[in-house]
Amino acid sequence: QSAEIVVIGGGYGGATAAKYLRLFSNNTARVTLIEPNASFISCPLSNLVVGGSKNLAELTISYANLSKRHGIKMIQDSALQIDPETKRIKLVSGEIVSYDKLVISPGVSLLMDSIEGLSNANRAGVTLQAWKAGPETIALHKQLSSMRDGGIFAISVPEAPYRCPPAPYERACQVASYLKQHKPKSKVLILDANQDITSKGALFRKVWAQNYPGLIEYRPNQNVIAVDAKTKTIKLEIDEDVKADVLNLLPAMSAGDIAVKTGLANSNGRWVNVNFLNFESTAQKDIHVLGDAIQVAYAMPKSGHMANQHAKVAAAAIVAELNNWEVNPAPVLTNACYSFVSPTQAVHVASVHQYNAAEQTFKPVPGAGGLSSEPSLLEGGYGWGWAHNIWADTLA
Ligand code: FAD
Repeated sequence: QSAEIVVIGGGYGGATAAKYLRLFSNNTARVTLIEPNASFISCPLSNLVVGGSKNLAELTISYANLSKRHGIKMIQDSALQIDPETKRIKLVSGEIVSYDKLVISPGVSLLMDSIEGLSNANRAGVTLQAWKAGPETIALHKQLSSMRDGGIFAISVPEAPYRCPPAPYERACQVASYLKQHKPKSKVLILDANQDITSKGALFRKVWAQNYPGLIEYRPNQNVIAVDAKTKTIKLEIDEDVKADVLNLLPAMSAGDIAVKTGLANSNGRWVNVNFLNFESTAQKDIHVLGDAIQVAYAMPKSGHMANQHAKVAAAAIVAELNNWEVNPAPVLTNACYSFVSPTQAVHVASVHQYNAAEQTFKPVPGAGGLSSEPSLLEGGYGWGWAHNIWADTLA
């Protein structure tokens, strides 16, 4: 009987890992995927749903092929507890699942307590994040479409690292595009805890000036410390309080709960350190961690594309280890990230990251990758091409 491999989380990292564990083992590995959601919903492109030019249905894909075509056992549930000693996982339903090798790609947890009053404001339906694509994405669009003309749509950006560095600025473009058409007296206010825009900064600034003059205000070094749900007031660490009509406040983030609870978050208690040759946690043997949850090195972004790449390196290493294959891995990861600056035009940034054996880390390859010079419809088409390809790679 072959080893039992369990994957927790069917997002960009976990679903790819499950599929490639089967492919790399010639369909001999026994793979179980635990995921609470009935279908995969993509965060990439979800800002277009916030802006109202696309539907969530266009970003939703069935998990059916993973079981039917690839022979993966799917369990629709959440992992509640992992015992690394006995190698057993307790699910929310109470079911116990045993593993020989465990892969976890749980995404991020939003640290709601990092902004005083945020949990209450969320419960009252005043604030929401829409940083995991789903019902909140639609709810945020509804808040935008019911905002008065002349209103302020505030987006706060936590200190890096956080999930998807350019996504808050892409969201600002999508909201501004909607406002330009429907509520031109309104504006987007970006309150950024960072000193500057952390990704594609010059491109975003150019687009804001040219396409959305007066519609987007960017304020760096603005750490949000509290929110008052009753008065819709945002309290900043240094500057005066700000009132807004829509409050899209993004708190600090950490590795997904299950990773933190299992004691894997050994980088500042927030992110998981891994061995970059196989993505095994440095805290627990036989637990491999992928995607946003890991502590990254040298400008590796927390992106879906990167999670997909982690998954393939980990799957290859796990299959090799279980089969006692002699391998000498020298992994290379790529990343391409498209940001839509209007409903149809996009810009991209791309990079290549090579394993450096001497330093046991990934380092960007000088001269590889690149950045758009300006937004275009052509790149918008490539952006959708990127999405359809990665969804097929992950789920088809
Ligand atoms: P996820 O894809 O979030 O998957 C985590 C999965 O784990 C989820 O399905 C969740 O249900 C499941 N899970 C969590 N806990 C448990 C548990 N206890 N038990 C079982 N299952 C569990 N990236 C790009 O590459 N390009 C883009 O253009 C891009 N745009 C973005 C735009 C926005 C608005 C946002 C928010 C993100 C964007 N990203 C983009 C980033 C991308 O979404 C993430 O980097 C990617 O999803 C990370 O993959 P992951 O596997 O770590 O997490």
